[in-house]
Amino acid sequence: MVDEYRYDKGLHRRLRRLIERFPDSFGHIDPNHILAMRSDKEGYRAIAEVRKIQPQLYGILPYRVMLIVYDERYRPLKKNVRTLVEVHELTHIGEYKDNTDSYVLRRHDVEDWAHMVGLLGVGWTQHATIDIMKAKEDNGDWEQAMEDLVRREYKKKNRKKK
Ligand SMILES: [Zn+2]
Repeated sequence: MVDEYRYDKGLHRRLRRLIERFPDSFGHIDPNHILAMRSDKEGYRAIAEVRKIQPQLYGILPYRVMLIVYDERYRPLKKNVRTLVEVHELTHIGEYKDNTDSYVLRRHDVEDWAHMVGLLGVGWTQHATIDIMKAKEDNGDWEQAMEDLVRREYKKKNRKKK
């Protein structure tokens, strides 16, 4: 079976919006460098991932990295969680290097996912309710924004209990 990958315009638009919304975290990323893709590959362990574009293609493609979401695991997620996954994927795109015209990619390992778990709790892809796009306008750092939102939500919950 051939795995299908296709360009996802909506995903690209959302990534662009996230980059603009959190300049302190993602200002080094040129949204035009991202090839946003969706795949229907099945039985894959990841929800999404970032990969390098082969340098041999730089001359004919404007892209430097591809960001792929895997429908099997991505599509069932709630919208706000999808956005968090997208934010997480953007954190994999490190510094842009002029001399190689490419980005340093940070590996997705157990620890970096643990960082999301640390902020949102175990099983966050199922139960996280925060909407990162509702962060305060002046907060250009996604991590700070998320911590604020989590704190605010926690306060709200505690108030309800009383
Ligand atoms: Zn990761």
